[in-house]
Amino acid sequence: MVTKNNITTYKNFINNEWVSSQSNELLESVSPMNKNEVVGYVQKSTQEDLNKAFQAADAAKSAWRKLGQHARGQLLFKVADILEANIDDIAQTATREMGKTLPEAKGEAARGVAILRYYAGEGMRKNGDVIPASDKDALMFTKRVPVGTVGIITPWNFPIAIPIWKLAPALVYGNTVVFKPATEASVTAAKIIECFEKAGLPKGVLNFIVGSGSVIGQGLIEHPSLNAITFTGSENVGKSVAKGATESGVKYQIEMGGKNPVIVMKDADLDNAVEAVISGAFRSTGQKCTATSKVIVDSAVYEEFKQKLLTETKKITVGNGLNDGIWMGPCASQSQFDTVKDYIEIGKTEGAKLIAGGEVLDGEEFQDGFYLTPAIFDNVKADMRIAQEEIFGPVIALLEANDLEEAIEIANNTKFGLSASIFTSNIGSLMEFIDEIEAGLVRINAESAGVELQAPFGGMKSSGYGSREQGEAAQEFYTEIKTVFVKG
Ligand code: NAP
Ligand code: MG
Repeated sequence: MVTKNNITTYKNFINNEWVSSQSNELLESVSPMNKNEVVGYVQKSTQEDLNKAFQAADAAKSAWRKLGQHARGQLLFKVADILEANIDDIAQTATREMGKTLPEAKGEAARGVAILRYYAGEGMRKNGDVIPASDKDALMFTKRVPVGTVGIITPWNFPIAIPIWKLAPALVYGNTVVFKPATEASVTAAKIIECFEKAGLPKGVLNFIVGSGSVIGQGLIEHPSLNAITFTGSENVGKSVAKGATESGVKYQIEMGGKNPVIVMKDADLDNAVEAVISGAFRSTGQKCTATSKVIVDSAVYEEFKQKLLTETKKITVGNGLNDGIWMGPCASQSQFDTVKDYIEIGKTEGAKLIAGGEVLDGEEFQDGFYLTPAIFDNVKADMRIAQEEIFGPVIALLEANDLEEAIEIANNTKFGLSASIFTSNIGSLMEFIDEIEAGLVRINAESAGVELQAPFGGMKSSGYGSREQGEAAQEFYTEIKTVFVKG
C-alpha cells in the first residue's frame, strides 16, 4: 500500500504478497459524491498477472484441501472477528466508493461478518450422506470434495456482502480462489482481502486481482487452470460468462439482474405496503438486484396508494451518504447516472407520466456528484420499456390491475425472475401468488429486497443460471460429490 497526496494505491494480493501489476499502470476508483475525488488507485492488471494468480492458486490446492473443513472454518471465524473490528473503516470506504449511505454500508458490513460466521460453522457440519447399498455388508456413502480453483467476479452494488458470500463458502469447502472485483468497488474489496490476510490464510489460497472486465474478467473465464466460475453482475456480461464457461467445460453459477414486481391488493395494509415499496425501490438508490421496480396496484385502491406513496417519497432526503440525515445517496457512477436519466426520458417518450422526482440536483453541494431525486411514473403499461427492463436506479413504474390474475400476469411479463412481493391479507391470494409468480425469491407482506443469508438466494428466467447461492445451497456449487462404495 503506497499513499501519495493522501490517496492510497492498492496492490493485487497474489501468493500472500501485495504486488503491483506488470503493466505499471493504475486505474482510479472515484467517488460518486464528487467525481473529482479519487478514493484510491488500483492495479490495471494483465494476463501475466492473472497467470501468476492461477499458478499460486494451483500450488496451494492440495495442502488447502488436506487441511480439512474444520480447520478452514476456524480460519473464517478469525476473518469474521477482524472484519467486525474494522466495520467502520470498511463501511466508510464503501460509502465513499459507491455512494450508499453510511448506515446501509455498516449494515452490509455487519451482514458480511454474519455470513463469515455462518460458513465458518459449515466447517463443523456434514459433508456427505450414508446411502444403503444393495450388498448388506458394504458401506456406501457420499463425500463432498472441493471443485478446485474457483474464479469469482463481483459487481459494485454490494461491495462487501457479495464478495464475502462467494469467498466464504468457496474457502470453507476447500477451494482456492482467484477473485476479480468490480473496478468501481475495488478499494472496498482490497480492504476485505486485508481481513483474510490478517487471519493467516496459507499462501496462494486466496488471490485478488484488479483489472478491466474485458481483460481480467474474460481472461479468468478462459484460463486453463479454472475449475468453476461464480459471477454476479449484468445480464449481458453474465450470458457471455456462461457461454465462456460452457466452452471451457467448467462449472458456473451466474446471478444477474431483476425487474422485481410488487403487487398491492385492495385488502392490503396500504401503509405497510407504501413503506416497503419505498424501502425496496429507493434504498441503495435503487441499485439492488432485488430492488422493487414495478408496482402493480389493484384498481380499487390505486389512487389512495398513489397519494400515500407520493407523500412519503417527497420526504426522502438525497445527498452525501456520509452525512447524518441523508436517506438516499447518489447513483454509483457516471454510467449509472446517465442510464437512469435516459430511462426517465424513455418513460416520458413512451407516454408514461412522471409524477415525482427524476430531477438532477444542482447547487454547490451536488454539482460534482451523481444525484437525482427518486422518481415515480404513473400510467405505465406492461409492455413499456420502463416496465420490462432493469433500470438499476431510483425509479418506480406504477401499473393498475383489475384483479389478482391480471396483476400476476403483469408481474410475470418480463424476462427476469429474481424477487417478487405481494401485499394482501387474503390467504387465497397469497397462496395463488406463491404458485404462479415466476421468481426465485417470493415475499408476502414484505419488501422485495429482503434477503436472509441462511436461505437459498437466486433467480429464475434471465435472472440466474446454475445452483443457488447462500445458505446450505452454496455447497452445491462449491463442491463435487464422490460416491464411495466400501466392501469390507
Ligand atoms: P457488470 O458490468 O456486468 O460487471 C460485473 C462484473 O463483471 C465486474 O467485476 C466487471 O468488471 C466484470 N466484467 C465486465 N465485463 C466482463 C467480461 N467481458 N467478462 C468477464 N467479466 C466482466 O455489472 P455491474 O454493473 O457491476 O453490476 C450491476 C448488475 O449486477 C445489475 O444488473 C444487477 O442486477 C446485477 N446484480 C445481480 C445480483 C444477483 O444476485 N442477482 C446481485 C447484485 C447485482 P469491471 O468492473 O472491471 O467492468
Ligand atoms: Mg466509484
